[in-house]
Amino acid sequence: MSEFFSDCLNGLVPYVPGEQPRDKKYIKLNTNESPFAPSPKVIEAIDKGQVSDLRLYSDPTADMLVGAIADYYSVDKDNVVTSNGSDEILAFIFRAFCGKSKGIVFPNVTYGFYKVFAQLFNIDYREIPLKKDFSIDVSDYENISDNVIIANPNAQTGVFLSVENVENLIKQNPERIVVVDEAYVDFGGQTVIPLVKKYKNLIVVQTFSKSRSLAGARVGFCVCDKALADDIKTVKFSFNPYNLNRLSIVAATEAIKDKDYFVKTTSQIIENREFTEKELDKLGFETVSSTANFLLTKPKGISAKELYLALKQKGVLVRYFDNSLISDYVRITVGSREQMEILIQKTKEVLTGGQNA
Ligand code: PMP
Repeated sequence: MSEFFSDCLNGLVPYVPGEQPRDKKYIKLNTNESPFAPSPKVIEAIDKGQVSDLRLYSDPTADMLVGAIADYYSVDKDNVVTSNGSDEILAFIFRAFCGKSKGIVFPNVTYGFYKVFAQLFNIDYREIPLKKDFSIDVSDYENISDNVIIANPNAQTGVFLSVENVENLIKQNPERIVVVDEAYVDFGGQTVIPLVKKYKNLIVVQTFSKSRSLAGARVGFCVCDKALADDIKTVKFSFNPYNLNRLSIVAATEAIKDKDYFVKTTSQIIENREFTEKELDKLGFETVSSTANFLLTKPKGISAKELYLALKQKGVLVRYFDNSLISDYVRITVGSREQMEILIQKTKEVLTGGQNA
């Protein structure tokens, strides 16, 4: 740290992204990306002349994409704000609605960035313990006046909180905002976007990084009441008006319009998740029931950290978290059927200490 680093950032611990190694080719099951290429329509649309327009700034309102998202979810364009990955919209939300008099709470196992944003923006935060089975007990949030953010399905665990329970969380206190981060909702969960029409204190965040195969394009968005959306836009236009580039606007617009491809690829992930869970069961692993594109699993006969390291050695990258609450587990992104078969094969090799199990 230099002597010039702002003292208001003392103690800031930055978010640590999953490894993106370049040393060799891994089967990458560590950052919940899609194993599938973007929709062919995305590729076609970008090829069609967008590149030459890169000399011009992008549309600061991303109107074409906002319109496509609004159509898809049957909301007004005024209810939608887009961003450079959903990380950015989360940052805007923290900045817009939390401050000296309003902190934020979230579960003690969830997406690591929530804590980082709170620290970055000097917002008081508190972590609410999950139940033993990693589920959220909505009654724990009853008397809380600070804003609330949950990921649903939850990050790291894949556990889904029912729409009824999310609605209870929203109803508990109309004076606080409830942010529902639905990064993983398309793999068997149910979105609460329709509730935006009913509740003025609800913000639903989604991303194109997982179910729409566009992690590298960096596109996220939120849907909420117009008044909240206007506040978020105030922050966005005070930070980076052209936050979405031309190529990403086109890519995301085509991706959300291509429903057939979306249904085909997300169904495949769900099928592969079920296959993998069954195979892990046969090995005696304890796997948390997941509604996401990943599985949190506790290995048998080897520690989670050892398994992570041994699989890495064999060219398969999974995620290990140095968080005592889940340090007995590895998180495995659900990839293609072939990738999952290799994962299981390599895991068997590790467990038997041999080359071929
Ligand atoms: N929310 C959750 C729960 C996540 O796991 C992630 C991905 N790491 C994000 C948001 C951010 O995703 P992106 O910025 O790629 O949209």
